Amino acid sequence: MKTRINELVELLNRYADEYYCLDKPSVSDAEYDRLYRELVELERANPDQVLPHSPTHRVGGKILDGFEKFTHLYPLYSLQDAFSQEELEAFDQRVRKEFPQATYICELKIDGLSISLTYEAGRLVVGATRGDGSVGENITENLKRVKDIPLTLPEPLDITVRGECYMPKTSFERVNLERQEKGEPEFANPRNAAAGTLRQLDTGVVAKRGLSTFLYQEASPTDASSQSQVLAELDRLGFTTNRDYVLAGSMSEVWNFIEKVASKRNELPYEIDGIVIKVNDLAIQEELGFTVKAPRWAVAYKFPAEEKEAEILSVDWTVGRTGVVTPTANLTPVQLAGTTVSRATLHNVDYIAEKDIRIGDTVIVYKAGDIIPAVLRVVEGKRDQQEVMPIPTACPSCDSPLMHYEDEVALRCINPHCPSQIMNRLEHFASRDAMNIAGLGTSIVEKLFKTDLVKDVADIYKLSVDDLLQLEGFKEKSAEKLYQAIQASKENSAEKLLFGLGIRHVGSKASKILLEKFVSL
Ligand code: AMP
Ligand code: ZN
Repeated sequence: MKTRINELVELLNRYADEYYCLDKPSVSDAEYDRLYRELVELERANPDQVLPHSPTHRVGGKILDGFEKFTHLYPLYSLQDAFSQEELEAFDQRVRKEFPQATYICELKIDGLSISLTYEAGRLVVGATRGDGSVGENITENLKRVKDIPLTLPEPLDITVRGECYMPKTSFERVNLERQEKGEPEFANPRNAAAGTLRQLDTGVVAKRGLSTFLYQEASPTDASSQSQVLAELDRLGFTTNRDYVLAGSMSEVWNFIEKVASKRNELPYEIDGIVIKVNDLAIQEELGFTVKAPRWAVAYKFPAEEKEAEILSVDWTVGRTGVVTPTANLTPVQLAGTTVSRATLHNVDYIAEKDIRIGDTVIVYKAGDIIPAVLRVVEGKRDQQEVMPIPTACPSCDSPLMHYEDEVALRCINPHCPSQIMNRLEHFASRDAMNIAGLGTSIVEKLFKTDLVKDVADIYKLSVDDLLQLEGFKEKSAEKLYQAIQASKENSAEKLLFGLGIRHVGSKASKILLEKFVSL
């Protein structure tokens, strides 16, 4: 029995790789189905003999408890950015000063999430996210559901490879349509959708979402002598690599490629946010080495932000946790870098005054850092009779008078009892980088505050399961879960607590430095 299971797993994995990665299947769909069903039957009859790399893991749903941390054996690095031809020239000069003979490889910068795959004896043992580069999350179960990731390699290798996991545009559209129909919030862009999917606890959902990968790096020692050889080797091992790369001997060739890709960017079946230029020769890469943050032998050219015209319909003013009141414009919807945008930040009152932005104006909208939409400026000559934008004088949450300090660009509510501020402070306290209390988000905080159960962070720790059960929408299980998350947060480092308190000018970095020096609160 065991040997037949083994045999079927090996066979099916090989066929799947041929199908998904090499695009040349050697068996018919019917034959594959027959073998697959035989394996499912055998596994059902012998559940203790299901192999960790069985292809049945690719579809079957499993509910996970959470994700464990995974310490990367080889850290993941980030890339230095370039936003102009000049910055690319500067990069080239730094390289050529030491290595005049260097040549480059230009790859598409896929807009997804970095993943790291570790194989032992040719079998996938760990798939992890990048995290902070040295510690990521173990998401093996989810990555097994990404169909183009090989579960087994054609050789019993011990290797760690890196690449990008992304959601193709077609999957993204389908997923968002489904969410729209179910009344669920849509994903802002394919990258968020991919990130949300990989952090799913229900692996069945991952299998259905249609993620794909492009691998581009061997992190463990390699026999290859150039990046182009690395890509060929990854390809040979059954990984999906991106074929749209070029070798370039000079920066003008690099620039030609960038311009060519920029013009056909919208036709690609996936999102890219730039071009990565790497020194092709691995020996030169090694000589050039790394700065604290990034390799000296590579640079990411980022495409300029896309801009569109839209009309400002109205403006919402909201109060943040520090009392700062921020304006957000409601716009006529526009397509921007692959998503529909109908709201954009106006930053602050001084920005509005300086750019003389008015309701009813046609404005230029762009995505800052390609994520948050913002209003850039008014389009000249399209203004009718618009009046100067009314600026609130009272807090939209508590109605107390707003202050506009001379040395600040923002309006501020200075009422310490302002409900909006308190709720935002509570939310900040519970957020991921602070006390990380899963489940204590905007809507729950609002309910706790409005029912008078929680008025400050200390109250959070007085909550009982019974208190939570009073809240609308809470059941035994969800109340217990949140209660446990609150208790677990007591084990956090003092650094997270200090940051969570949200003292002005004490961010996560300052908290860390303070506690390194003073040890306890
Ligand atoms: P950034 O996140 O903007 O610092 O850019 C660095 C990230 O680009 C890396 O962590 C990778 O996840 C991603 N990336 C996408 N495509 C590539 C590629 N072809 N080569 C290297 N990194 C890439
Ligand atoms: Zn207020």
